[in-house]
Amino acid sequence: MMPVVAIVGRPNVGKSTLFNRILGQRKAIVEDFPGVTRDRNYAEVTRYEKPFTLIDTGGFEPVTEERMLVQMREQSQLAIEEADIILFVADGKEGLTPSDVEVAQMLRRVDKPILYVVNKVDGDAQEVGATEFYALGVETIHTISAEHGRGVPDLIDDILALL
Ligand code: GDP
Ligand code: MG
Repeated sequence: MMPVVAIVGRPNVGKSTLFNRILGQRKAIVEDFPGVTRDRNYAEVTRYEKPFTLIDTGGFEPVTEERMLVQMREQSQLAIEEADIILFVADGKEGLTPSDVEVAQMLRRVDKPILYVVNKVDGDAQEVGATEFYALGVETIHTISAEHGRGVPDLIDDILALL
């Protein structure tokens, strides 16, 4: 069985953008408002002759914070069941939110490798702001810009190292 890498995180953090970036082509729909990925997107990716399945999780646009958390729980559940490696993505522009903390807490119970990714760190100037995500109690944060590709090659290397 091919290893499965699942991208989870609250709406609008850039999961689909990262999915497309890792894929190297546009497949998932990226939109300026949350919740556009109606279904899960699956893709087969091969880097350095190591194949894996990448899953982009989405869902309907949650109308309330509560609905969003339900969705996040479902995503986390999917990740727990199907994934071998989890990419937890947060939004460095928005900063750390209570929902990020809640999702991170859910994932902490998962006995699988989790890579913590702070997206939308488009330049050096945004690096400092991303340090607040260490409050999640994690050792390593990967700062990236899915949109511009910054930090993504290193992230892919770290994924491959876990395969
Ligand atoms: P998803 O809901 O988590 O799948 O998020 P999307 O991939 O649909 O992206 C949501 C919004 O964030 C879109 O407007 C993207 O263009 C924007 N976005 C995604 N990645 C980046 C990034 O690295 N930097 C910036 N500045 N914006 C980004
Ligand atoms: Mg999406």
